[in-house]
Amino acid sequence: MIEGVLASGSEVVIGLAVAVPVVVVAGGIAVGLRLRGRGVREHVPAGEEAHDATTDAELVRSAETTSAAEGPAGAATIVEELPDLSEGTRAGPPEAASYRSRLGKARGLLSGYMGAVRARGRVDAATWDELEEALIRADVGVGATDALLGDLRTRVASGEIAGPEALVEALKGDLVGMLSAADASLALPGPPDEGDDDRVDVWLFIGVNGVGKTTTVGKVASRLSGTGHRVLLAAGDTFRAAAGEQLALWASRADADIVRGSEGGDPSSVVFDAVQRAASRGHAVVLADTAGRLHNKVNLVEELKKIRRVADRPPGRVVEVLLVLDATTGQNGLAQAKVFLDAVDVSGVVLTKLDGTAKGGIVVAIQRELDLPVKLVGLGEGVGDLIDFDAAAFVDALF
Ligand code: GDP
Repeated sequence: MIEGVLASGSEVVIGLAVAVPVVVVAGGIAVGLRLRGRGVREHVPAGEEAHDATTDAELVRSAETTSAAEGPAGAATIVEELPDLSEGTRAGPPEAASYRSRLGKARGLLSGYMGAVRARGRVDAATWDELEEALIRADVGVGATDALLGDLRTRVASGEIAGPEALVEALKGDLVGMLSAADASLALPGPPDEGDDDRVDVWLFIGVNGVGKTTTVGKVASRLSGTGHRVLLAAGDTFRAAAGEQLALWASRADADIVRGSEGGDPSSVVFDAVQRAASRGHAVVLADTAGRLHNKVNLVEELKKIRRVADRPPGRVVEVLLVLDATTGQNGLAQAKVFLDAVDVSGVVLTKLDGTAKGGIVVAIQRELDLPVKLVGLGEGVGDLIDFDAAAFVDALF
């Protein structure tokens, strides 16, 4: 059983106790075993809890497995939303995520078309039809497709590009050029031992429910922890109990601390509390998950504005606002994204689930239509499956 369950936060913490054993029992996954060794450091914001933890020791709450029979009904719903954290930790080293190894679906679509273009032996009307169909089907978008083909037609007409092989190479070059235009660098914290000032960097993760925000926060936390930074997660999606539980699992994996609110609580207060706690305990960065309920657009926009304001108040300093988009939703995802752009200044995009779609061209559409750099790419559900966007490697893997 979980020890030291917080009084007023018992619902969410008990949820974790329930979710862990059911995952273990139902899926035969060793999540609980990993939790046992690490301990989950967790804090519930002031105002939502009668007592405030004052030492790190009090924040450490060890999570241990228990039998599924001890959990209340309804646990199964929670488990469905938990990621399979065992990926990459089964026997043998995990396969390193790379564009080449994970973009098989997208490559399958484009390489078929490019094969047909090359096989024709010359550039004719059918060549342009093939190229147009390939780019539209890959979700590059009408605007970007027109721009790309317009440039290539001019260069073929002038004789600069001769033959289908050169045409495909020129298309690749144009795509890399388009995708390299924006600055995709992340505002990473400085070296861990050079604490230059008392400010706490805050990264906000925004986007529609289900796109992969929580998973991405976990992956980024793991990466930053791995480079020696102390990371604090803020579970700002207080509308779904499962989101907080899922984030707590990621926190334990990443060796990060976490601040959670009670279900339905004010997300801004969670973020506020996280920043205060980070400042007092020397965390370099707060990674804040947020809710993404699109059905209540006005509230969503107001809530995000408030979270951002609160996070930016000293000692907090918002250095990244990352819009998380699901590549499998293609152009629909872009339409949804515009709601978030109305709410806050976004510094970049995290494009998730690129491993699960043939529509790899969505990267081009995002940069062109949203005018935002894709900074990180999700290539799977495992902790190592988030990599920096690299235009040349991406285009190379697509073709
Ligand atoms: P949230 O509601 O935005 O917080 O979304 P979650 O983080 O809960 O993710 C929703 C689902 O997408 C989960 O099953 C994740 O494991 C899965 N997911 C997230 N990122 C990726 C990715 O890059 N590739 C794949 N294949 N699945 C992902």
